Amino acid sequence: MGDNPLLCNVGQCRRPIGDRAWVTRCLHVFCSDHGMAHFGSENAAQVACPACNEINVKETDVVHCDLNPHDMILFGLPPQKAIRMAVKSLKLWWYQMEQEREFGAARYEKLNKKISEVKSAYERVLNQLEMKLQSEIDGNNKYRHRHKCIKHMFISIGDFLLSFFGTFSVSPL
Ligand SMILES: [Zn+2]
Ligand SMILES: [Zn+2]
Repeated sequence: MGDNPLLCNVGQCRRPIGDRAWVTRCLHVFCSDHGMAHFGSENAAQVACPACNEINVKETDVVHCDLNPHDMILFGLPPQKAIRMAVKSLKLWWYQMEQEREFGAARYEKLNKKISEVKSAYERVLNQLEMKLQSEIDGNNKYRHRHKCIKHMFISIGDFLLSFFGTFSVSPL
């Protein structure tokens, strides 16, 4: 497969291209399966690019190329033609890398949005829990306070009864 980082431009595919790519004049690249499916049939002379819908003439605008060609492939070509070919190739690369960068940025943005959504949901739940906990503590405090009052009341009644009956109990039988 080599170290070629190009990915199939069919959105759901994005498979590493490997050694052979289908390339269009509109600067899109496709894996063997998608290239064959879209450009391989003999029927139509023109085909809409599966990535951008631009019409490509199969004969002149679509190429099924070897991405690992012999390093002497440009030998013998006039320099102007070799340079023109190199410039076109660089254009495709620049476009593909730019597209990947944008795709990465969009994915990053989506991920960031998801993270902030999860974070705010988490904060909401945490707030609710905190409020619930606080109300339980308040309720508990109120209960404890009531409990304390009742206890005091009983103690005072007890004290009163004790002192009342105490006066009797200390009296000689
Ligand atoms: Zn594909
Ligand atoms: Zn295209």
